[in-house]
Amino acid sequence: MTTTSGSPAESASADASTPGLSEFRDEVRAFFRGLPDAMAGTGKGLQRARAWRALLFDAGLAAIDYPTKYGGRGLGPEFVEAYRQLSQGLVPREETHFGIGIGMALPIIRDFGADHLKDRFLQPGLRGEEIWCQLYSEPGAGSDLAGLTTRAELDGDEWVVTGQKVWTSGAQLSQFGILLARTNVDAPKHQGITMFVLPMEQPGVTVRPLVQMTHEAEFNEVFMDEARIPADWVVGEVNGGWAMAVALLAHERVQTGSQSMGGSSTQKSKAGRVPIPVAQLIELARERDRADDPIIRQELARLHTGEKIVSLLRDRPGIHPSIGKLWRTKQGRAAAELAAQLAFPASPAWGRDLNIERNFDEDYFAFHILNCRGMSLGGGTDEIQRNTLGERALGLPREPGPDRDVPFRDLLKN
Ligand SMILES: Cc1cc2nc3c(=O)[nH]c(=O)nc-3n(C[C@H](O)[C@H](O)[C@H](O)COP(=O)(O)OP(=O)(O)OC[C@H]3O[C@@H](n4cnc5c(N)ncnc54)[C@H](O)[C@@H]3O)c2cc1C
Repeated sequence: MTTTSGSPAESASADASTPGLSEFRDEVRAFFRGLPDAMAGTGKGLQRARAWRALLFDAGLAAIDYPTKYGGRGLGPEFVEAYRQLSQGLVPREETHFGIGIGMALPIIRDFGADHLKDRFLQPGLRGEEIWCQLYSEPGAGSDLAGLTTRAELDGDEWVVTGQKVWTSGAQLSQFGILLARTNVDAPKHQGITMFVLPMEQPGVTVRPLVQMTHEAEFNEVFMDEARIPADWVVGEVNGGWAMAVALLAHERVQTGSQSMGGSSTQKSKAGRVPIPVAQLIELARERDRADDPIIRQELARLHTGEKIVSLLRDRPGIHPSIGKLWRTKQGRAAAELAAQLAFPASPAWGRDLNIERNFDEDYFAFHILNCRGMSLGGGTDEIQRNTLGERALGLPREPGPDRDVPFRDLLKN
C-alpha cells in the first residue's frame, strides 16, 4: 500500500490576511486576557480541557503553523515562537490531556500522513474533540522498541491487530492510538514495523489501568485481540514504520524536554511530569522558616540555575531534544529532593490518604516527590538519551547490534 505524503512547507503560506508579528503578539495577549472569563463555568477535568482547546482553536491560535485547510493559520515558526513565549504560565494545566495528540501524533500525520488521514484527524484533534494515546511500549519492548511483537495482518479491507502494549498514558480517555505493530516477521526487526491509527473504542481493545505509587492511574495496559483498523489508516509506508517511530520520538523528546518547561510555571499542577518550579520551593522554604538556612539557599540557587539553563536551552534553536530532556529530568529530581527536605524532614513523604483531587494543595509536594522518577523513563530513559546523544550528536560508534540484520522470526524473544 502506498500513501501520499504532504510537506511541512505546505504550512507556511503567507497571504494578504497574514498578520504582522507585533499584531499577532497583541492578538495572543488579548486572547489570554479574556481567557479567565471565557473559561468561567466550563466545568472540571476533561470538560474544561475540551473547552480550553476549543477556545484556542476558534481564536486561531491552536494550529499556528498548520495549513489553513486543516484549520491552521499557515504562519511561520516566528509566530509559533511568539505564542510560546507569550503563553508561558497562562496555559490551563488541562492542556496535558492533549500532549500526545497535539505534541506527537498530529504533527506526524501532518508531515507524513496521506491526505485522507489529514482530512480526518487534524482538525478534530487540534480542537480537542479527540484524544490520542501512544501505543509503543510492550512488556518485552521498551528501550529496545524495535523488538515489539504486536502483529498486524491485512484481512480484506482491514488490518487485524493482536498483541499487548503497556505504560500507555491516557489510553482510558483516548479515541485513537498511534500504534506500532509488526507487519513482516521475515525482515530484520527495524524493517518489518508499520505505524497505524488504531480506533480505541472497539470490542477488540481492552484498556486496564495501572495504579502508580501516587495513587493515580495515568497509564494502562492495552490488550488488542483481533482489533480492527481500516486498511488505509497507515501512517507513512507499510513496513516503513521505524522512520515514523523515530520522527515521533523526536517530537516526544521536545515535548517532554525543554519545550514544556515553564509552560505553566505559576500554577500548581499534578498533571504530567513537570519539575516543581523554583518559585514554589522558595515559597515553601519561607513557609517552613528555612529561607535563611545557608544550605537551603545554596540548593535553591542551584535549582534556579538549572531552571534558567533549561529555559535557555529551550530558546536555543537546533539544540538536540535529548539534551533538554536530560536537563529537565535532572531538574525534576533535584527539585523534588529539596521539596522532600523542606516539607517532610522527619516523616514519609505521603500519607495513606493521598488523593490528587481531594487533597490537592496538601498533597502537592508529596505527589511530585513520588512522580518525578517517571520523568526519567517516559519518552526514553536517561541512559537511552545519552546513547542517542553519543551516537547521533557526537558521532561516537553505534551500540553493538548483532541482531540488526537477522530476520525478526529468528530472534530470541522474551
Ligand atoms: C510515566 C510514564 C509514561 C509513559 N507513557 C508511555 C506511553 O504513553 N506510551 C508508551 O508506549 N510508553 C510509555 N511509557 C513507557 C516508556 O517509554 C518506557 O518505560 C521506556 O521506554 C523504558 O522501557 P522499559 O520500561 O521497558 O525499560 P527497559 O527498556 O527494560 O530498561 C530497563 C533499564 O535498562 C536500561 N537500558 C535498557 N537498554 C539500554 C541500553 N541499550 N543502554 C543503556 N541502558 C539501557 C534503561 O535505561 C533502564 O534503566 C511511559 C513510561 C512512564 C514511566
